[in-house]
Amino acid sequence: MKVSDFISPEEEKEVVEAIKQAELNTSGEIRVHIEHTCEGDRFNHALEVFEQLEMHKTKLSNGVLIYVSIDDHQLVIIGDKGINDVVPKGFWGSTKDKIINQFKKENYKQGLIDGILEAGNQLKTHFPYQSDDIDELDNEISKGKS
Ligand code: CA
Ligand code: CA
Repeated sequence: MKVSDFISPEEEKEVVEAIKQAELNTSGEIRVHIEHTCEGDRFNHALEVFEQLEMHKTKLSNGVLIYVSIDDHQLVIIGDKGINDVVPKGFWGSTKDKIINQFKKENYKQGLIDGILEAGNQLKTHFPYQSDDIDELDNEISKGKS
């Protein structure tokens, strides 16, 4: 599958909008990375992507990466240290469920949107939106090699 079959440029804009909306709930910063296949251990690889995207560069260490590989169907959610320090285990369960529910029906765009909004809601309690918020991490979807 081409990345553009997974998500069209038009749909991408809606996903970016969802990120903007979610980031009005929380100081957390959400990014999405899409690529074809996940090399090696999915958690280690998603962590590498997190680092490559310099997602640790947030004031409160509260960046969140939603990593998706479309050919081998991997989904990993990586939250930075600031989040892991304060949330219970299984914190991302509801976000993952929302994404997978839609992905199963091949509603990829909707899965990402639902997951992003859920992540924003989940983060709100621990990391409320600050009135002096800055957009610390780009909202555009990042993509791996095609
Ligand atoms: Ca922000
Ligand atoms: Ca952002």
